[in-house]
Amino acid sequence: MKALEGKTALVTGAARGIGFEIAMLFAAEGAAVALADLSAEESKASAAEIAAKTGARTLGLGLDVSREPDCGKAVGETAGLFGKLDILVNNAGITKDNLVLRMKEADFDAVMAVNLKGSFLMAKAAAKLMLKARAGRIINISSIVGQAGQAGQANYSASKAGLIGLTKSLAREFAPRQVLVNAIAPGFIRTRMTGGLKDEAREKICGLIPLGRMGEPGEVAEAALFLAGGGSAYITGQVLAVNGGLYM
Ligand code: NAP
Repeated sequence: MKALEGKTALVTGAARGIGFEIAMLFAAEGAAVALADLSAEESKASAAEIAAKTGARTLGLGLDVSREPDCGKAVGETAGLFGKLDILVNNAGITKDNLVLRMKEADFDAVMAVNLKGSFLMAKAAAKLMLKARAGRIINISSIVGQAGQAGQANYSASKAGLIGLTKSLAREFAPRQVLVNAIAPGFIRTRMTGGLKDEAREKICGLIPLGRMGEPGEVAEAALFLAGGGSAYITGQVLAVNGGLYM
C-alpha cells in the first residue's frame, strides 16, 4: 500500500520548486493533492502534469497566502472536491534580500506577510477542519537561515525563525486533537530561489556543506512525506533539518 493512500493534501507555492516536488511525491504515494500558488494558470498546469504522471486526483488553485479570504477559499475548495483535508504544507515563500540599512520597511513587511502570516492564515483555515476531524498534519517549510541567521536576509530569516515558533505553538495547541505540526528547515536547495547565486558563491557555499553539494527539491519532499505519513505519528513540534549537515 502506498504511504498516503486515501489521504488528501494541500500544498502552497506548489507551481514550481520544492512545493511542486512535494505535491508530485505525495501524489505518487497515493494522495489527492491540491496545488495552490499565486498564478491559478501555473497551478493548474502543474496539477495537470502531476495527474498525468501519477494518475492521482489533483486540483490547481490560485491564491495569495497573505490574504485571509484566499486561504479560507483554497481550503474550502480542496475539502469540497476531495471530501476532507488531511495534510497542509505551508511552502509558499519569498525573499527580498538586502543589508539592514538598505532594507525598506515595505520589503520587511512583504516577506513577513507571505512567509509567516501566510502560514498562520493557512494553518488557521485548515485547522478548522482538522480539529473537527481529530486528525491532521501541518508541515511548515522554514529554512536553515531561520536557525542560524544570515547577513542580508534579516527579513527572511526573521520570518523563518518566526515560523519555527509558530510551529511549536500550533503543535502544543493542536496536540490534544491529534493534529501534528512540524517544520522542515532546508539548507541550500537547487531551485529558482537559489538559481541567482553566482558560480563563485555557489562553490563557496558547497565548500561549507559537509555533504559537499546543494540539496535537490526532491530531497526536501522526502522529508515532507515522512512528516505526512504514518511513520511520524509520535512526532510533533519538531524541526527537521535537510541541509547536508551545514547547520547542526
Ligand atoms: P520558488 O521556486 O520561488 O517557489 C515558491 C513558490 O511560492 C512560487 O511558485 C511563488 O509564486 C509562490 N508564492 C510566492 N508568494 C506567494 C503567495 N503570496 N501566495 C502563494 N504562493 C506564493 O521557491 P523554493 O525554492 O521552491 O522555496 C519553497 C519554500 O522553501 C519557500 O518557503 C522557501 O523559503 C523555502 N526554502 C527554500 C530554500 C532553497 O534553497 N531553495 C532553502 C530553505 C527554505 P511566483 O513564482 O508566482 O512568485
